[in-house]
Amino acid sequence: MVWLTIIFVFVMIWALIYPITDYWQRWFSPSVLKRGQSHPQKVDREKKVCLTFDDGPNPEITPQVLDILAQYHIPATFFLVGYRAEHSPEIVRKILDHGHEIGVHTYRHCHAYGMFIHKSINTILQGIQILEKIAGKKVVWFRPPWGALNLFELLTVKYFRLKIVLWTANAIDWDIRTTPVQIVERLKKKLQPGCIIVIHDAGGDPEAPRHTLEALPELIGQVQAEGYRFVTLTNIQEN
Ligand SMILES: [Zn+2]
Repeated sequence: MVWLTIIFVFVMIWALIYPITDYWQRWFSPSVLKRGQSHPQKVDREKKVCLTFDDGPNPEITPQVLDILAQYHIPATFFLVGYRAEHSPEIVRKILDHGHEIGVHTYRHCHAYGMFIHKSINTILQGIQILEKIAGKKVVWFRPPWGALNLFELLTVKYFRLKIVLWTANAIDWDIRTTPVQIVERLKKKLQPGCIIVIHDAGGDPEAPRHTLEALPELIGQVQAEGYRFVTLTNIQEN
């Protein structure tokens, strides 16, 4: 009986640290920016859409993404992985010089369920430090890898007053089997006012960002043809 009680308490603590915190912030937390489906009371009427890129910077792909965005005069937000930013600080500066926003996507891009106290705190802290050092200003946006967050990360994010951002439209473009046509089609199906699109300029299959790059002009063109305007996260939040 004693052992059963110990196991029960252990499981309950584990559940609180991982799945309960994760599901709360994913589906119910009012402070998480994931406009549209999760907060129907806040559904936007204006046809604004926010384009976000995860897992970069990628020395080969990100500059080409920036060229396409400049060609169409649209802003985006880049959720950067700390160790990659450390290797390519000039690309981070270029992203900012082009008028885009950046956010923290942790330092190592580890999954929340595989980290305990020290690693959870450090991956966020190091991510913030490297981005703020390069950018020379405070970083406010945070996106957890795979959208998953544990209790230690959540407390760290709250301590540093970061704003958590998830997404409402995901193309699964990190998978090399997803074609450029499928990327555009999947995102168009989920398009709605206040939509936050997530695509990747790095991460996943090494060749997958090429499909994203190829899909990008078509995606921008089709979204604009539907009457939508691309805005920054700051702008969509203030909406
Ligand atoms: Zn990621």
